[in-house]
Amino acid sequence: NATIGILGGGQLGRMSALAAARLGYRTHVFAPEADQPAMQVATRHSVADYTDEAALVEFARAVDAVTFEFENVPARTLDILGPLAPCHPSAEVLAICQDRVAEKRFMAAAGIPTAPWRSVDSAAELAEAVAEIGLPAVLKTTRLGYDGRGQAVLRDQADIAPAWTRLAPRPLILEGFIPFAMELSVIVARDADGATAVFDIAENRHHHHILDITFAPARIPESVALEAQAHARRLAEALGLVGVAALELFLLADATLLGNEIAPRPHNSGHWTIEACCASQFEQHIRAVAGLPLADPSRHHDAVMRNLVGPEGMALWSGLLTAPRIVPHLYGKAEPRPGRKMGHATWILPFGTLATMADEEALSGFSGV
Ligand code: ATP
Ligand code: MG
Ligand code: MG
Repeated sequence: NATIGILGGGQLGRMSALAAARLGYRTHVFAPEADQPAMQVATRHSVADYTDEAALVEFARAVDAVTFEFENVPARTLDILGPLAPCHPSAEVLAICQDRVAEKRFMAAAGIPTAPWRSVDSAAELAEAVAEIGLPAVLKTTRLGYDGRGQAVLRDQADIAPAWTRLAPRPLILEGFIPFAMELSVIVARDADGATAVFDIAENRHHHHILDITFAPARIPESVALEAQAHARRLAEALGLVGVAALELFLLADATLLGNEIAPRPHNSGHWTIEACCASQFEQHIRAVAGLPLADPSRHHDAVMRNLVGPEGMALWSGLLTAPRIVPHLYGKAEPRPGRKMGHATWILPFGTLATMADEEALSGFSGV
């Protein structure tokens, strides 16, 4: 049976490897540190740096296809792997999603509006960008940010200099601050033949810039859901994606949707699909990478996913084990450091019940935990 190679050792790789195993595939995880969450469940693993040529060549020869559980794969890694094994998503897709400026341009070209933005490479350009976009605004590093790291909200003039000092000299982007009514995400799968499948829209809540809760489906009008799904399909087409990608969106009070960023991989806001859909985002990803047809992404239950972050998240674990209709997941990480995603839990509700629930009721599955 075929072997799927997964670059990256985190929980997204772990859940992808579990999905691959269920479809009869072996997995080979490649990551720089030993005992990573994905390695614990893979058939084989390699511990080596992402630019270790000899180790990458050996890995590529041992697998039938390569995928990535994070988008910040060095270009050099792709140069080495590319000629040796089919890589999905492609180097071009990864390059776009590694750079917020390229990503914003790509979204615009695909017909997805974004916040106003300007690239910023000097203090003078920052002043010009602030003059043009106005305050409040968000200054971000163009590369390598996650969980809100590498960004600063500028509320008034006094915030500008300290933000510049903290984030420069890295290439930056200034975005208008969007007073969104809700954050949404949509996960799309596309296979090698160009067929697409889109999951229902997720409604996301962050806590200290880290995803905290996802409600699925999002409590939004049907017209907004259809527009978000259409954006995701157009994006997948334009990228020539093979695999899954998440499109993060801001929903404004007037029902406008703006694209925030693209993750060309399974996404934290799609974990609910494991329990609530016929096939999860991880299964869709593995199917696409392995050259299988996509599965029906239909949702058969509503779901509320809660991340277990750091020691506070872990304090919920024993309660989650016995809570009704809750499915708990742990990622096998040793240290519950603050801010670290240790696991998640999904509360499963009857189909169609979430739409009319206010927050208190929509979170009540976790209230006894
Ligand atoms: P992720 O962990 O999702 O990859 P990230 O570090 O790449 O996060 P973003 O998704 O760009 O960063 O931003 C993190 C969060 O900060 C967003 O989900 C949103 O809540 C808030 N945010 C980002 N950009 C803006 C903006 N332009 N206006 C308002 N809020 C924003
Ligand atoms: Mg991001
Ligand atoms: Mg984000």
